Amino acid sequence: MDLHLKDKVILISGGAKGIGAAIARGATREGGIPVIVDMDSSAGNRLQAELRSLGKTCGLICVDLLAAESCSTAVQRTLEEFGRLDVLINNAGVNDGIGLEHGSPEKFVASLQNNLLHYYNLAHYALPSLKKSQGSIVNIASKTAVTGQGGTSGYVAAKGAILGLTREWAAELLPFGIRVNAVVPAEVMTPLYEQWLSTFPNPEEKLKQIVAKIPLGKRMTLADEVASMVLFLCSAQAAHITGQHVYVDGGYVHLDRALT
Ligand code: NAP
Repeated sequence: MDLHLKDKVILISGGAKGIGAAIARGATREGGIPVIVDMDSSAGNRLQAELRSLGKTCGLICVDLLAAESCSTAVQRTLEEFGRLDVLINNAGVNDGIGLEHGSPEKFVASLQNNLLHYYNLAHYALPSLKKSQGSIVNIASKTAVTGQGGTSGYVAAKGAILGLTREWAAELLPFGIRVNAVVPAEVMTPLYEQWLSTFPNPEEKLKQIVAKIPLGKRMTLADEVASMVLFLCSAQAAHITGQHVYVDGGYVHLDRALT
């Protein structure tokens, strides 16, 4: 299937590692031009060098997206370098464990800033360009938005809001032909996930317990499997799909636990 992503400029927040990096690699395989926006400049430089060594074009903007101005800068610099913006993939986030007990009002707000505000800010600043390109937005959410996790109020509130905003933006942007969808992963082995696992006394045992509860194949979802859905949703092949929450999770959220 040709996704018709050739020469499409695809801004990926958190594109240097994990799911974002898989999306960047997948985008170049489809002929697209990823623009990695990430605060990990070492990982960003490594990925850009890897893709360039394969003869691909790839932009890199090293900023922390916490400030609204950084989001504006990211969009501006994309336009300066490539002259257009076709797709926004809101992906950067961190499960930062700000709960009711082990949190505070200040930490809760900071978690929303880490996980939610830059989704809005990037969409806001990208909108004029997306109108011109009749582009699309894909928001990466998390199964925790619908299942809960315990001990991570800020992250879950942000991910729940992201699912709501996906519907809201899909409605608002109908007149411009801009489609907005969300992809909802559950358990994907990435640097973020490894870091989270390492907080348990016995990470290997914890991983075994988690994997045993994933209905399809008793295995983690691959970052490439999430990326494939993201790239499909932002492509012309998904031209009549908007406002959807697509779970790429091996049945984790919807299938009966008795099956595991
Ligand atoms: P990851 O391995 O940590 O990669 C994310 C990248 O985004 C990192 O390079 C990170 O930099 C960067 N980043 C985070 N906050 C940023 C900010 N404010 N400004 C600029 N860059 C920032 O994460 P991942 O596991 O691929 O997760 C990607 C998305 O999927 C997140 O939204 C996450 O919530 C969601 N998700 C993941 C899973 C999973 O199982 N992995 C499950 C459900 C949902 P640093 O490393 O320097 O922080």
